Amino acid sequence: MDKDLRIKELERELRLVKNKLETNGRNQSHNFSLPSSPINPSHLTSSILENIHAPLLLLNNKLEVVFANKAFYENFQVYKDETLGQPLFEIGSSQWDIPELRDVLESILPQKNKLSNFEVFHDFEKIGERWILLNAREIDIPDVSESYILMTLEDITRRKKAESRLIKSEQLFHEMFYSSTSLLAIFKGPEYIIEKANDAIIKVWGKGKDVIGKPLLEVLPELKDQGFQELLDNVFKTGEVFHAHQLPVDLEINGKMETRYFDFTYQPQRNAKGEIIGVADIARDVTEEALLSQQIQKSEKEFRGLVDFMPHKISIADEDGNAIFYNKSWLDYTGMKMDEIVESHWTEVVHPDHTEKVKKELEECLSLGKTLDVELKLKDKNGNYKWHLCKAIALKDDGIITSWISSSIEIQKLKEEEQRKEDFLKLVSHELKTPVTSIKGYVQLLQTILNNQDNKAKPYLNRIETQIERLIRLISEMLDLSRFEQNELELHKEKFSLNEHVEYIIEDITYTHKDVQIELEHLCECEIMADKDRIGQVIINFITNALKYSPDTKRVLVKVFRKQDDNVAVSVKDFGIGIQEKDIKRIFNRFYRVSAKNEETYAGFGIGLYLSNKIIDRHNGKIFVDSEPGEGSEFTFVLPLNQT
Ligand code: ADP
Repeated sequence: MDKDLRIKELERELRLVKNKLETNGRNQSHNFSLPSSPINPSHLTSSILENIHAPLLLLNNKLEVVFANKAFYENFQVYKDETLGQPLFEIGSSQWDIPELRDVLESILPQKNKLSNFEVFHDFEKIGERWILLNAREIDIPDVSESYILMTLEDITRRKKAESRLIKSEQLFHEMFYSSTSLLAIFKGPEYIIEKANDAIIKVWGKGKDVIGKPLLEVLPELKDQGFQELLDNVFKTGEVFHAHQLPVDLEINGKMETRYFDFTYQPQRNAKGEIIGVADIARDVTEEALLSQQIQKSEKEFRGLVDFMPHKISIADEDGNAIFYNKSWLDYTGMKMDEIVESHWTEVVHPDHTEKVKKELEECLSLGKTLDVELKLKDKNGNYKWHLCKAIALKDDGIITSWISSSIEIQKLKEEEQRKEDFLKLVSHELKTPVTSIKGYVQLLQTILNNQDNKAKPYLNRIETQIERLIRLISEMLDLSRFEQNELELHKEKFSLNEHVEYIIEDITYTHKDVQIELEHLCECEIMADKDRIGQVIINFITNALKYSPDTKRVLVKVFRKQDDNVAVSVKDFGIGIQEKDIKRIFNRFYRVSAKNEETYAGFGIGLYLSNKIIDRHNGKIFVDSEPGEGSEFTFVLPLNQT
């Protein structure tokens, strides 16, 4: 259409010029002259042709350039002298030798008045790639028998580029629209005629593919009672965008009613004048997410109900240990509201005596992700501190801590109970110690009196003495226990030979246990600075245990050796029942005894190792256990040598 207009315009211009010339000619022949105009008509024609803004060429029937205007030279950057009189296809290094152009021009000549317009894409030597709209037509020139071709050449490169960009973006839009997994549709007019709908939305509607061109609410009548007509009308009338999040919609999909959830936007569509002409629907089927979040909400509600119902004080903290949730038990205990307790610092409820210990433990747990297990006093709403056992574990995702869950349970009564028990044991032990010691004295006196006589009572007296010894040891262990608990145990350090001390203890034990075989190996000679009696107590505990827990073999190996240059060690190895891995850590706990079916066979109270550990710890040493069930055990204590 454009091209025809252009050529017609040019023809009109030429006709005007021609008429003017003819009129002038006639006027002249009738002795009329142009009213006082100094213009020469032939100059006027060439000036007009020269200045027409479109490049223009006039070719003769040999296709040589008879005339080219200024616009032609400027646009195609060719010179007059290399153009005029030259065959068109040879101008400017033959850059006009374009096959389509040659075909057209050659076909014009034989058919008079034939108008050809066509677009050519060509890479011109000077101006580069261009799209040119060519209009060529054979024209008659009065009194000239030769045929001429008038050709206009319009550079339409910019328009073509814009067209191609438009086509590309239309293609892109088309691809995006139809291949998108989002649900997309465009409804036209107040009837909401489905103009466009992609496969995804057609599938969700479940009404088949034949929906284009039909009104939306006729295709989906079930939407009418769900307020969609009103929603669409509002967007259509007001132009306000409507957004919905996880909105339930009942749809009849393939003949079956289903509730689906959608995130969607109703967006007004406008024409060039800005008038609303329709509504676009951009939606996402979020049914699975919505059902999942409903489930999560439900289970969260159940979880909250559960933790609020529990007597334990439960709290949740983020990965850095900042609390974000406390259950009802916590709120009731502290008398604080959720936001108050969340904003408060833990030190506000922990007893000042315990803050240092808790801080240390917490730092260790947070940096290593290990479980917190600590006994501490927590302040209640009346300002009273009560004992609690607090445990916290890290929840991890792919090995990375995501949060912490802590549970604290009140153990105040247990602690009070324990205290009473300890006080009672201390009292009883104290009260027993004096009579038992004097019984032992009397037994020893009797033994001395009867020593030189062959008396039948002697073996019984020996037994009484052994039992009294056990009783005395038990009583002193009980007393030690409460001393340790109340930090009352004092060490009386002195310098002594560890080798001689071990030797003396073994002799003593062998004296009372006739059937045992205790082998001693001195791998080093060593003097130490320590509490002799307490270290002796540990060695006795190790050896008597080794004998007690070896029912079949009474062989025990004792070694004094250097573990490192700056320490000395004593090890006691037996070939008895051994200890399982899970029990090894716990045998140092107070009153802990490994439970076994024959537990009753081994007398004891589970205090010896607890005390041994405390004694060695007070000497800055360490105890190691190496044991294999059924093979035997080796208990070793190591003491540092640089003790003053
Ligand atoms: P007990 O008076 O019960 O022997 P201890 O504190 O000395 O108390 O020992 C704690 C527990 O450790 C014992 O009950 C026993 O189960 C275990 N145990 C200690 N030494 C040995 C050993 N040499 N062999 C096997 N088990 C041992």
